[in-house]
This record gives sequence, structure tokens and C-alpha cells, in this order.
Amino acid sequence: MKHKDDIPRDPVWYPFTQMQEFAEQSPLVITGAQGCWLQDEKGKRHLDGVSSLWANVHGHRHPVIDRAIEEQMGRVAHSTMLGLSHPGGIELARQLVEHTPEGLNRVFYSDSGATAVEIGLKMAYQYWQLKGETQRYRFLKLSEAYHGDTIGAVSLGGMNLFHERFDRLLFDTVKVPTPHLYRHTFAIEDEKDVVERYFSLSQDLIESYAEQACGFFIEPLIQGAAGMIVHPHGYLKHIRDLTRKHNMLLIADEVAVGFGRTGKMFASSWEDVSPDLLCLGKGITGGYMPLAATLATEEVFSAFLGDFKDLKTFFHGHTYTGNPLACAAALASLTVFEEEKTLDTSVFGPKSQKYSDGMQRLAQLQHVGSVRYRGLMGGVELVAKNNTKEPYQFEKRMGYQVILEARKLGVMLRPLGDVIVLMPPLAISLEELDLLFEVTEKAIRKVTEG
Ligand SMILES: *Cc1c(COP(=O)(O)O)cnc(C)c1O
Repeated sequence: MKHKDDIPRDPVWYPFTQMQEFAEQSPLVITGAQGCWLQDEKGKRHLDGVSSLWANVHGHRHPVIDRAIEEQMGRVAHSTMLGLSHPGGIELARQLVEHTPEGLNRVFYSDSGATAVEIGLKMAYQYWQLKGETQRYRFLKLSEAYHGDTIGAVSLGGMNLFHERFDRLLFDTVKVPTPHLYRHTFAIEDEKDVVERYFSLSQDLIESYAEQACGFFIEPLIQGAAGMIVHPHGYLKHIRDLTRKHNMLLIADEVAVGFGRTGKMFASSWEDVSPDLLCLGKGITGGYMPLAATLATEEVFSAFLGDFKDLKTFFHGHTYTGNPLACAAALASLTVFEEEKTLDTSVFGPKSQKYSDGMQRLAQLQHVGSVRYRGLMGGVELVAKNNTKEPYQFEKRMGYQVILEARKLGVMLRPLGDVIVLMPPLAISLEELDLLFEVTEKAIRKVTEG
């Protein structure tokens, strides 16, 4: 055994973190939470402005979810889904099928957004192999997509900052330009023309790869990690129509936008879109436990059926696939959606209105270039010069400065570069929303206007 003196005070290597900075600035240690508030070891409370990384839905320590996990603990914490099953896993699958868009009938569990994406990727590929269309091996994706940090998911991603380093390890994909109304590079100004250009670019690429493509991966409505890029209305439907016409699968990654963030249970529903595969994660357990799911249509599922010797089986699984505690949390979260009418217009509407008003106020600030949101999910992009959209120098880390300032005022945020993400739990109260926007405005002003 090692001597205690040789062990670092905190040996944790933190995710997405320059560890050298930790020498001067150690992370806040969270020891408790209640509702939309986190509490640190010194007893200070912080409003959870990003839902503990886009996961929490009904608030922390919700009695219904807490109790469901405790009760499951009294039965069994974990047994495998490789060869065995459990009632919560079956019931949750039934409820997910009930809530998700038309056609999605089958549920494959895993434990994180990235694994849900890897599963979607492998399912889509194997599906076409089993259908005898073995020339299909390519995937289309949006140029600034984010689908997680494992190598398959990174191949489908397009965020240079995170992904470029691993270039040689990644498989080739077809990049469809992200429809970004604020930062497009066309020499045209009229928004309608810009939208049209994006529509036709995606159409050209889908047509060109119609014979070779397995599928098209998309984050419906909002590309989260890329900086809360909100797609123009009708874009998802457009991609659905084209992928259907040209016979490739549509794989919707609703890991971030799913479970009510945009005001409907699933973002695809806004445009009446049913994907062939649907990836879920983050909010699926109300933000309590690691769980993810990839849903498939009966058409995809049935291609995998056959005698064992035909080797059509989907050979994939994780140790904690469909963990019973996590399934109990997810079932309880769906119960809370129902009991608290979380997404009813009378409950969600006023919050969404206040959120929208708050965003529009922030949009007036001198160094806010763009605000982008749907429902209670969005971001505020800071710029050095508003008229030219000139970004701040990367090294200035303006987004990071703003969240440090907000933290002093009791609000916990996390930026994406110079985009300040505002994505509170759906359970946030109107008063807490006021505080969220008040503090965000103060912090942005202090950092950008001095
Ligand atoms: C967060 C995210 C993922 C990855 O989920 P993890 O649980 O972090 O692996 C995948 N897709 C989208 C759209 C995400 O926002």
C-alpha cells in the first residue's frame, strides 16, 4: 500500500479541465442539494443554472425520485441485462415507447449519451449489412455536431476544439454545413435566402450520398455543445423528408434536447418527425443516475432477427446496461412529469415566457451578439464588436470570466467558449428564473463593460 503522504490531496483528473489551473484554483466541492440549489462544503448555496450539466429536470432530492431509488435498493441494486431482465427495465421501455415519436418500438439500454450514440451508429451500419446493401457504410452529420467523447461519437462530431487532435483515429464522414443563422459564411444577408441555401446544401449532399449512406445523425432543433445553435424552422422536417426519400436512416440524438427542455417531451415532435433511431441520455433519469437508451423502429429491429447461426445478433452490451436503480429513477421521473404537469402549457408556458423575456433583455447588452433558445434551453453569445460579430480573442476566456463572476453572486453556470449556457432544471420557479437572469446580466456587464 502507498504511504498517505505520497497520495495527491485530490487525485481526481477532472473532465474537460486544464489540471494545471487546479494548483491555484481547486473546484467547488458540492456536498448537498435541494430543488434547484447546490450546496458547497462551506455551506454556500448556488442556483443550478445548467441543470448539473443539462441533466437535472425536476430538481435535486425530489421525494418521488429519491423514494423510487430507495425502494429499488431494497430489492436489488444491480443485476445484468445480458441474459436476465428486471421489471423496472421492461416497464420503463414500455413507457419510453409510449412517449417517443411514432414508430419507435424497441429500446436498447446503455449508460451514457456517447454509448447511446455508438449503439445508434452500429445499429444503423449493421442494419444495412443485414439488408444486403453492403455498399452502405457512410454517415452524414452536421459540421459542428457533438455526439459525445468516445471515438465513434467523436467521428460523428465536428467540434475542432475537442476533436481535431484525434483526427487520425476517426472514420470519415460526410459533413453537412450546420445551419447557423448568426455565423454563416455566405455573402448574402437576407435570412430567408440563408435558410434556403442551407436547405439546398443538405439536399445536394443527401442526394450525392444516397447510395452509400447508412444514415444521417442530427441533434434536433438545437445543437447544444456547438454553442446552442438553433436550427431554422422546418430544417429537421426537411432532413426527415430527404432521408426518407433517399432511403437512409435518420438518427436523432436527443440526449440534450429530450425530456422537455424545448417544451415538448421530445424535440422531434415540434416538427412531427419520427426518426428511425433515437438516442436518449442526460435527463432520462431526471438527472439522477447514468442511464441512456437507443430506440429503434420495428423495421430496424426486425432486420436483426434470425437463427443464431445466421449471426444477425446485435453483439453489443455494457456491464451496467439498464441498471435497475437508474431505471427506477427514470420511471419516477416520468411519473413526476405527469403528476406535476411539468410540460403543461399552464406550467411550462409562464416559465418559457419569462426565460424568453430574460433572453431578449440580455440581447440588448453591448457585448451580446446573439441569444438562441427554445423552451428553457439556450445560450448567449458574447462578442467583442457587435456590429461586425467579431469574437473575443480565444485566450481572454470571456465566457469563463462571466461564469466566475456569476458564481460570486450565487449562480452556477458553465460556458461553451464565449456562449453562456442558460439551461435550468424544468422545475425552476419564476423567482429563481428572475435571479438567474439578474445575475447573468450583472456578470456579463461586469466582465464585458468593466
Ligand atoms: C452530452 C451529449 C452527448 C454525450 O452524452 P454523455 O452522457 O456525456 O456521454 C451526446 N449527444 C449530445 C447531443 C449531448 O449533448
